[in-house]
Amino acid sequence: MEKNKYVYLFSEGDASMKNLLGGKGANLAEMTKIGIPVPQGFTVTTEACNKYYEDGRVIAKEVIDQIEEKMSELEKISGKEFGSIDNPLLVSVRSGARASMPGMMDTILNLGLNDETVETMAKLTNNVRFAYDSYRRFIQMFSDVVMGVEKRMFEDLIDEMKEENHVHYDTDLTAENLKELVKRYKNLYKKEKGTDFPQEPKAQLIEAVTAVFRSWDNPRAIVYRRLNDIPSAWGTAVNVQEMVFGNKGETSGTGVAFSRNPSTGENLIYGEYLMNAQGEDVVAGIRTPRPISELNDQNAEIYTQFENIVNTLEDHYSDMQDMEFTIEEGKLYFLQTRNGKRTAQAALKIAVDLVEEGVLSKEEAILKVEPKQLDSLLHPNFDEKEIKNTDAIAKGLPASPGAACGKIAFTAEEAKERAEKGEKVVLVRLETSPEDIEGMIAAEGILTVRGGMTSHAAVVARGMGTCCVAGCGALKVNETARTVEVEGKVLTSEDWISIDGSTGNIYPTALKTVAPEISGYFATFMGWADEIRKLKVRTNADTPRDTKQAVEFGAEGVGLCRTEHMFFAEDRIMAVREMIVAKTEEQRRKALEKLLPMQREDFVGIYEALEGRPATIRFLDPPLHEFLPHADEDIRALANEMGLTFEELKATVESLHEFNPMMGHRGCRLAVSYPEIAEMQTRAVIEAAIEVKNKKGYDVVPEIMIPLVGEIKELKYVKDVVVHTIEQVLAEKNVELKYKVGTMIEIPRAAITADEIAKEAEFFSFGTNDLTQMTFGFSRDDAAKFLNAYYEKKIYESDPFAKLDQTGVGSLVRIAVEKGRSTRPDIKLGICGEHGGDPSSVEFCHDLGLDYVSCSPFRVPLARLAAAQAQVKNKR
Ligand code: PEP
Ligand code: MG
Repeated sequence: MEKNKYVYLFSEGDASMKNLLGGKGANLAEMTKIGIPVPQGFTVTTEACNKYYEDGRVIAKEVIDQIEEKMSELEKISGKEFGSIDNPLLVSVRSGARASMPGMMDTILNLGLNDETVETMAKLTNNVRFAYDSYRRFIQMFSDVVMGVEKRMFEDLIDEMKEENHVHYDTDLTAENLKELVKRYKNLYKKEKGTDFPQEPKAQLIEAVTAVFRSWDNPRAIVYRRLNDIPSAWGTAVNVQEMVFGNKGETSGTGVAFSRNPSTGENLIYGEYLMNAQGEDVVAGIRTPRPISELNDQNAEIYTQFENIVNTLEDHYSDMQDMEFTIEEGKLYFLQTRNGKRTAQAALKIAVDLVEEGVLSKEEAILKVEPKQLDSLLHPNFDEKEIKNTDAIAKGLPASPGAACGKIAFTAEEAKERAEKGEKVVLVRLETSPEDIEGMIAAEGILTVRGGMTSHAAVVARGMGTCCVAGCGALKVNETARTVEVEGKVLTSEDWISIDGSTGNIYPTALKTVAPEISGYFATFMGWADEIRKLKVRTNADTPRDTKQAVEFGAEGVGLCRTEHMFFAEDRIMAVREMIVAKTEEQRRKALEKLLPMQREDFVGIYEALEGRPATIRFLDPPLHEFLPHADEDIRALANEMGLTFEELKATVESLHEFNPMMGHRGCRLAVSYPEIAEMQTRAVIEAAIEVKNKKGYDVVPEIMIPLVGEIKELKYVKDVVVHTIEQVLAEKNVELKYKVGTMIEIPRAAITADEIAKEAEFFSFGTNDLTQMTFGFSRDDAAKFLNAYYEKKIYESDPFAKLDQTGVGSLVRIAVEKGRSTRPDIKLGICGEHGGDPSSVEFCHDLGLDYVSCSPFRVPLARLAAAQAQVKNKR
């Protein structure tokens, strides 16, 4: 039997092998293939990672053997020897999954150093300081990442060393200082681990590879995967690469660069570098790096070479690239390239520019913008007038655009906790690290004291579309005392702060935010998406205002108007309550008469906002107890207001109590019990349509939707009430009007009997919120409490209420589509559960050939783009 190949030299792969080699590994192979100067190495595959987990978290002997084989080949390529005292080969070990997960997993540099090879390195480079600096970094990283000794303890030792020697920067420590520091590091290691720091390079390597595999499942990686729809089954590859050194003195350096500006999309190379530094110094934001243009002044020859490679890589990948490079004693190397993360504004500009430059077709360009990113375009900025009248107290780097305002939170945990309680917080940190991910998600905005435009905070915030100001050195953050001092002012966790991620300005006060202006690129790009897509996009809206907003965002109709949302308005809740407490049909009809003009007025407003676009009006759905108070004191107050006794009203509230209200007296069951409610709603819908037709000339074709149907006979019963009422209204007004009556498919039984249901229903709209709830058998309101345990145990990887469970719930949708069409080939099909605004679910709906998706107004652009992408990816 042919043995599995788990390890590939860079020269054995190419860009098409991303699934096996991970993004970084495949690109290193591709760069090697096209002749970019890349330090050579090999990639341990994602399959080896999966095997590690399948084997119960142990690295298999055959994987170790293959690593060792490739290491011998790398020794030949490099002319150096791993562990040799004469000419030691040192390597970096880095994770690299199929999709980039910046900072989520672990990296180890300078592996292969030990007490002997460090001496050789000192001699070979004639640079004792460099050798020991590299060694102390390696001990620190290896101890932290592989052995779990906290980084902080090592940092304390450096701080002590700097204090003892009265110096400010790490770079001021002498070779002797660093030698001494290495000693202290090793002592710390021994104290913590009970053994000496491992000296055998081969053992170091296998431990490091294993640690990277392990880091695939660290908590922050799991959270990141869930946020970005990355399946845990992908695994990570591990790249082992010959080290080149940016910290060999002033002719060495390291940096990161983007082939275009990742914030604005401007077509200019953008980046930062530091001389005499290793990569982590730039990314971790410990020293503030220099703009890349200064490299041109410092060394024009290197800069020209650098610029050529950047252009070659962008042309090769037909996309904006994010690259890491190192200069070792005047020689330039590229350590990685990938499609760069970018703000939504930049993504649109780059996509449009690349089409205009003739690099991409419109279809290709459509795939270059993440639908979820559009969210951030639609997010607020500060009110111009307020900004003019408010002095900024400090300025940092405009790391991720948008505006945020909140009270100050000093740690990620604090941000998360306070946000969960409903507080708006801005996370203020010296710098962020990947552990902070949950706090960063919870915060309105992120402000850091240290770090550049490519620091962790900046990159992660940009990806999430969260506003971020980085590198604001004027702030003195005391994380222990929980204060920020700036310009003599001391702010605490009770103070408001406003940050502007587009200018970098910081304001020590709460500022008003306003909705954003959308750029011309947005319109051009979305126009292309509309040309391409087949799936229509409607909106879930219950008010004229929301409907109007959605139409501005490109909605082609209302897919779900939840009529009960109108019942909660202050001026009508009383009539609703009267309807509920009514003891006779006559009393109920009286209350409904009060509601009729209000409902009609709402529908008129919605039809007008739609200017002739279609609207699906869903009839009353929630259990009635939702409209009544539950606490005794509130019941007493309401009873007074309604002229009832406390006991009477209390008895009504109790009679409405249900053990499981989501499966109780709701949906069409209400109309079966009280057909007069459906009569009133029908009358409101039809009279409004006639009014708008007469007044504005719009030919409204009302679509009345009966919720929570599970049995054809209950649909037929309610439909008869509806149709009868419509005929009555039309006769009264002596007009004709087209209309449709359909149903939601949100109960599994309805999905399985959809061929019968379709005999009565002219359209289906999949209510995947309830369909998910009923299919999984867990409550949409309570699931959040236990889903976390399911994510941790990898039973579920995402929230089925956010991303459609295509296997289970999706099968029911598919069955209903097939069965519905078998009875009524032209049945209109849509989805109006929350999944209608989730990109992967939209793609699923496209593939099933639904007519439309419906989602909240702010997600309409996202759904339009996701629909276009689905069309490009899987032509129907
Ligand atoms: C649904 O169940 O998916 C739906 C859209 O209805 P609601 O969320 O109002 O129950
Ligand atoms: Mg529902």
